[in-house]
Amino acid sequence: MAKQFMKSGARVRRASSNRRMPEYLERGVDVKFTDVAGLGKIRLELEEIVKFFTHGEMYRRRGVKIPGGILLCGPPGVGKTLLAKAVAGEAGVNFFSISASQFVEIYVGVGASRVRALYQEARDNAPSVVFIDELDAVGRERGLIKGSGGQERDATLNQLLVSLDGFEGRGEVITIASTNRPDILDPALVRPGRFDRKIFIPKPGLIGRMEILQVHARKKPMAEDLDYMAVASMTDGMVGAELANIVEIAAINMMRDGRTELTTDDLLQAAQIEERGMLDRKDRSSETWRQVAINEAAMAVVAVNFPDLKNIEFLTINPRAGRELGYVRVKMDHIKFKEGMLSRQSLLDHITVQLAPRAADELWYGEDQLSTIWAETSDNARSAARSLVLGGLSAKHHGLNNFWMADRINDIDVEALRILNMCYDRAKEILQKNRTLMDEVVEKLVQKKSLSKQEFFTLVELYGSIKPMPPSILELRKIKRLQLQEAVTKLDMTTARNSS
Ligand code: ADP
Repeated sequence: MAKQFMKSGARVRRASSNRRMPEYLERGVDVKFTDVAGLGKIRLELEEIVKFFTHGEMYRRRGVKIPGGILLCGPPGVGKTLLAKAVAGEAGVNFFSISASQFVEIYVGVGASRVRALYQEARDNAPSVVFIDELDAVGRERGLIKGSGGQERDATLNQLLVSLDGFEGRGEVITIASTNRPDILDPALVRPGRFDRKIFIPKPGLIGRMEILQVHARKKPMAEDLDYMAVASMTDGMVGAELANIVEIAAINMMRDGRTELTTDDLLQAAQIEERGMLDRKDRSSETWRQVAINEAAMAVVAVNFPDLKNIEFLTINPRAGRELGYVRVKMDHIKFKEGMLSRQSLLDHITVQLAPRAADELWYGEDQLSTIWAETSDNARSAARSLVLGGLSAKHHGLNNFWMADRINDIDVEALRILNMCYDRAKEILQKNRTLMDEVVEKLVQKKSLSKQEFFTLVELYGSIKPMPPSILELRKIKRLQLQEAVTKLDMTTARNSS
């Protein structure tokens, strides 16, 4: 009976010691830093926090204040919870956790009393790590929330501040909180002595993703020749939680097929499932397959002409659960894309690619037979053209100084339309020049439903009519370096011959 009571989460007083069973303690936390991958230098900062526990005396003797709170900032799924557990695991201390959304109750006072109970437990079981997930749920700047919830939240936040101050600098209870929005936290929370240490955890890069995959592969039967790099480069933008999921999905598929080893292909397929949902095995008429193939092939064939868009990873016309027709995956130059350094030309190229399906529809089916298969990509093109004009990148510089001028709207649209027409003609021209390539790609797509990078580029080599791209600065430098090397080796050889 008593056991049942405890399970239901109700509080039970132990008769003898008059102390509650710790409610927020997570037992059996056995996470080590080796379970968290792809962190690079961030790991050093966390190792220091472990030292606050293990070498606390040393810090105290030298009068160094140990931070009371550490804020882990970053998008969901990058491993913030995992890291907090690893800190507790490495230091060998107790781990208490709560999600801040649990603090936020309708009844005034409940949140505050939970905070008090949490810290009481942590203190009774010190040394310990207190982990507060989604701190922003309660730590929003006071006064930002209007209405009935606000008062309760303020009371909870005040209690949290009081509790944090209670441990200031002594290093027996360290609070680690996670948030995706450090910018909206109440200034009182991030004051010195409270959450004064911020650690930013970004999404993992290529190497990071590879390491995370490897960590999760440790307990699975992986094929010896598994190409982690290929999987990592296909999962651009994914976080640790998604990568962990990919390994799980792949393992389930392997079991389903009655195999005993996970292959690169398993992981690649799982990555697609994670990204875009399960394959939808519905049937299409052969005419529909062909139409979708033309749509996708057109984008790929046009894109391969442009320096920033030519890295095509694969194309497919397999439908996924949902409404998607097909898919061309282009690998963008990471730095240029993320840091907003795309040039005007690459934006124009993007618009041209988005208009390619419309151009292909016209070329292959004729103006009278146009469908609406390209509606979505044309929409993309339209909004990109408007951004280009508003951003001041078009020839006429609308929007540079008069962003909100209502009477300019017509001008802006006229200019956007001019750009769209220009790009449309370019797409059409490229497609006309590459009719054979288009037919080959469409044929293969209808047959095989998807083409890998290699298959696609073999066709481009054989049938494509692609204008050579102007060499980039890097390529120019490389050519120069090679020339220099050749000259030096020639010189070496003649001196060697002369001296012999
Ligand atoms: P967050 O708290 O940032 O939302 P979690 O720590 O809850 O993310 O991550 C969820 C799961 O994703 C973890 O349990 C782990 O399996 C996996 N994961 C996330 N990041 C990593 C990483 N850097 N290394 C290894 N596994 C990770």
